[in-house]
Amino acid sequence: MDAGVKWRRILLKVSGEALLGDKGFGIDPVVIERIATEIDEARQCGVEVGIVIGGGNIFRGVSIAAKGGNRITGDHMGMLATVMNGLALVEAMKSRGISARVLSAIEIPAVCEMFTQRAAQKYMESGETLVFVGGTGNPLFTTDSAAALRAAEMNCDAILKATQVDGIYSADPKIEPNAERFDTISHSEVLKRGLKVMDTAAIALARDNSIPVIVFSIHTPGALIDVLHGKGRSTIVTD
Ligand code: UDP
Repeated sequence: MDAGVKWRRILLKVSGEALLGDKGFGIDPVVIERIATEIDEARQCGVEVGIVIGGGNIFRGVSIAAKGGNRITGDHMGMLATVMNGLALVEAMKSRGISARVLSAIEIPAVCEMFTQRAAQKYMESGETLVFVGGTGNPLFTTDSAAALRAAEMNCDAILKATQVDGIYSADPKIEPNAERFDTISHSEVLKRGLKVMDTAAIALARDNSIPVIVFSIHTPGALIDVLHGKGRSTIVTD
């Protein structure tokens, strides 16, 4: 492993929104390519990478519930959206020569393999990059919770959450220009202040498993490599 790298095995959380790029809906191939390139660079530093991908660029269960629809069905649709995103990301990685595989929390045998912790550990140890789709496999959860869950199951050293902003702020910096930005903060403080970085279940799970969460901007090219080397702008959540 590259001597300057801080974590040997990471769980990268990529939101569906990040995949939108300049498009209003769906997947921007330019963005997928860039993410695949950055993951490749991380791998070349000797870092093992697992990715949990969101689905918000295609569907969110709450949007159907807000219109009086069935939340559970909506969440099933949201989980399926993450499968589409994961398939796209794995194809982009494979075309770069990365050995990569989609593992799903919901059974879709014609499309991809079901996630089991044992198999996933073996694949990762043999050098594969894994994309975990289908969230936790349960409605009423989010892919942030899936990220914390998979990070714990896969013994990841850190969760790297790629977001729209360069860290955690006391309020949305797009609405409140004077919002305070944190370089470091504890999991408990995030929960106490109700900061909107990940949902409560995800932060609590990361805290209970002593997994740091690093929040950085998906829009800064090279940010993943910088964060892996302890550089660039990010917020580190650690106890
Ligand atoms: N979802 C779910 N269970 C999970 C993960 C996701 O039901 O464990 C559904 C939920 O409807 C959610 C959608 O899938 O809104 C997309 O996931 P998420 O909103 O976390 O995606 P992101 O915001 O990261 O794009």
